[in-house]
Amino acid sequence: MNEKDLSLRKVQAERSQTRIRSGFSHLSKLTAKLMGQKWRGGERWPALLSQVIDRLKKEYGCPWLGNFHDPIKEIFFILLSARTSEVLYVRAMEKLFEEFPSHVALAKADVESIMDCIEGAGLGAKRSRQVILVAKRLVSDFGRNPAAHLRTMLPLDVYKYLTSLPGVGPKSAFCVMMWSLDFDVLPVDVNVQRIAARLGVIPTGLKHYQAQQRFPRFAPENRSRELHTVFMVHGRKVCVPGKPKCGECVVSDLCRTGRKRSGRLSQ
Ligand code: SF4
Repeated sequence: MNEKDLSLRKVQAERSQTRIRSGFSHLSKLTAKLMGQKWRGGERWPALLSQVIDRLKKEYGCPWLGNFHDPIKEIFFILLSARTSEVLYVRAMEKLFEEFPSHVALAKADVESIMDCIEGAGLGAKRSRQVILVAKRLVSDFGRNPAAHLRTMLPLDVYKYLTSLPGVGPKSAFCVMMWSLDFDVLPVDVNVQRIAARLGVIPTGLKHYQAQQRFPRFAPENRSRELHTVFMVHGRKVCVPGKPKCGECVVSDLCRTGRKRSGRLSQ
């Protein structure tokens, strides 16, 4: 085993010790804790959600959704993706990193040059300034290799650091932690929230931050990325906004809305 493997093992061991010390056997419980929610335990929803994940994985697999393994790229990717359509933010990200291939280059850029790259996605001066401010923070806090620093940090420290960056809220921080740093935390986006509510796990009509607070505590252990991924795909293909296609749905018997719509559950 080389030195890199050894140091990775050490970090993983430290992280799992932290989970044990903090009383959380898995980090979706930590997601709830970080969002100020008490863990209430219970097996019903985690068990049902496990079944839902298994069936949806059979249907769609568990594809990588274009996110980045590099946490620094992922931070900028998430910043650009907020309230923008997928095609547009992916194009904006490609253009931005073609022009400014690192956070160091971004930290030296001016607002107009960033806007030239991202305004095609409808993103303006505010987002450009955020990109520069985030890049400057990364340079001043961690120098040339912030990804290496983030990979050695413990979950609470990573969460606090990410949410201290301009424009990075809890959901964005959880995205970076889940996609790029391998933590079992669960970002709740609109697709995840919609399906969770239709299944009956959380109430409908919650504000987005409330759904982010409430849903992760029901997630089964160590399955956050699978859950997030299959819900994203299912939410785009079948459990779409407006009128869900329950007749085509492979989890309709497990879903409160599906059972209601098929008459298997009384209104
Ligand atoms: S049964 Fe309908 S509402 Fe429930 S998950 Fe499937 S598509 Fe969505």
